[in-house]
Amino acid sequence: MQLKTIAAIATPEGHGGIGIVKISGPLSISIARQIFTPSILNSKTRMEEKLLENPKAQARGFFHGFIANPARGQVLDEVLMLVMPGPHSYTREDVVEIHCHGGPILTRTILALVLTQGAVLAEPGEFTKIAFLNGRIDLTQAEAVMDLINAGSQNELEIAAKQLSGELKTRIETILATLTDIAAEGEAAIDFPEEVEGLFQKEKIIPLILNDVVTPVEILIQRYHQAQALGKGLKVIIVGKPNVGKSSLMNCLLEKDRVIVSDVPGTTRDFVEEGMMIKGLSFILADTAGLHETQNRIEQIGLEKTREQIEEADLILFVLDLQTGIETEDKLIHEEIKDKKFLMVFNKKDLLEANGLIKQYNICVELKGSPGVWVSAKYSINIEALKKAIFDALSEFQTPLYPEVYVSPNFRHFQCLRQCLESSHGALNAINDGLPVEFCVMDIKNAMGSLEDVLGISAKQDLLDSIFSRFCIGK
Ligand code: GDP
Repeated sequence: MQLKTIAAIATPEGHGGIGIVKISGPLSISIARQIFTPSILNSKTRMEEKLLENPKAQARGFFHGFIANPARGQVLDEVLMLVMPGPHSYTREDVVEIHCHGGPILTRTILALVLTQGAVLAEPGEFTKIAFLNGRIDLTQAEAVMDLINAGSQNELEIAAKQLSGELKTRIETILATLTDIAAEGEAAIDFPEEVEGLFQKEKIIPLILNDVVTPVEILIQRYHQAQALGKGLKVIIVGKPNVGKSSLMNCLLEKDRVIVSDVPGTTRDFVEEGMMIKGLSFILADTAGLHETQNRIEQIGLEKTREQIEEADLILFVLDLQTGIETEDKLIHEEIKDKKFLMVFNKKDLLEANGLIKQYNICVELKGSPGVWVSAKYSINIEALKKAIFDALSEFQTPLYPEVYVSPNFRHFQCLRQCLESSHGALNAINDGLPVEFCVMDIKNAMGSLEDVLGISAKQDLLDSIFSRFCIGK
């Protein structure tokens, strides 16, 4: 529980019918008492009795009166004051809202008056942060507040409202409950090994993980991708070793010279992205700096960016050169992308020798990828086939597969969900490989940790700072 009292103007800057100055914290009600005088009509009201004489009593509700500077006695405005004693308030602290007339100078003057009485100016999102820290909402709901404010369409608005009501939180909590039960049973099996057969049976635990953890997490991940498709567009990125033809491919897909093509390896140091459409499906296509060992600091920054891009991508175009066959760099890239959805694009088809097909087959076998597409980025050969393959690979995100699951995880949730899925598969593998129960329990606990991160349970300060700093002041 924080001890400071914060205040901010909660309405947008500018002229309007009303402006609201919001105060939260232990001094809220005493500040209100200092600067607010109830109207004559209401002088014998509950407010005067309760708020002025016994501020913590149930002085809940709207009160009519005047805001005045106590030092000078000068009346600033006729207002309505909303008093919400904690814990039944947005922040669970005592909250007072002064609903004054909506002039920028007026609201700023009232705010300044509140600050002189002992409140400090609220940081962006601080009211919501306190609501989160005081356990009134979880992190998904806090994020939904921001989504609600920033919603750009009816659809986004509805999804944010659902999330605010706890839809995502409840789904995550249900999966967490299953994981907690599995971990508890695993620990009991470790502590009472003689009963291990009865306690942690493969036949029971595997379907439980598959049906009650893996499937619902996969559905949420699916919903993330669908939301991307409906919102800003799916992200398709091009990766490959230097000089394999990434920039050429980008230009070719966009049908314009957007990126410099050069035969000096490592030319594309910065990444470039551009929107494009294939059969009505919108994409963001991004070129990357490549992934290879380098000592060059600028190139290293490019590589970090590429890793971020890989993390965010809905589909990766993995460009390979059949002339060179698989090289160390290709293997390095494959390591980075193998858990993501990727499509192999064999470039420089125009230079192919007769044995190209065999090479392609060998690469597919070695990298366990689907056959991919042969193109020549330089001469625009087979680009339509590549576009069709991109469309097919992503079309699943277009149709709402789970319309009843009305949530829209954001990128942060998506990262946690992916980690949860990875750990859940680790747990399944541990059981299938007959490893000691400890291994499975460790993975289950990791999966739990990832879901707890979605809800913000024991969230680190820097994560909270980065989330709440994106809010507006006064929320
Ligand atoms: P990046 O480093 O992966 O972005 O590769 P670039 O697109 O800059 O291409 C590197 C070199 O390969 C340039 O000289 C291109 O002209 C050449 N190149 C790219 N695609 C093809 C292709 O399909 N066929 C041939 N023959 N050369 C290509």
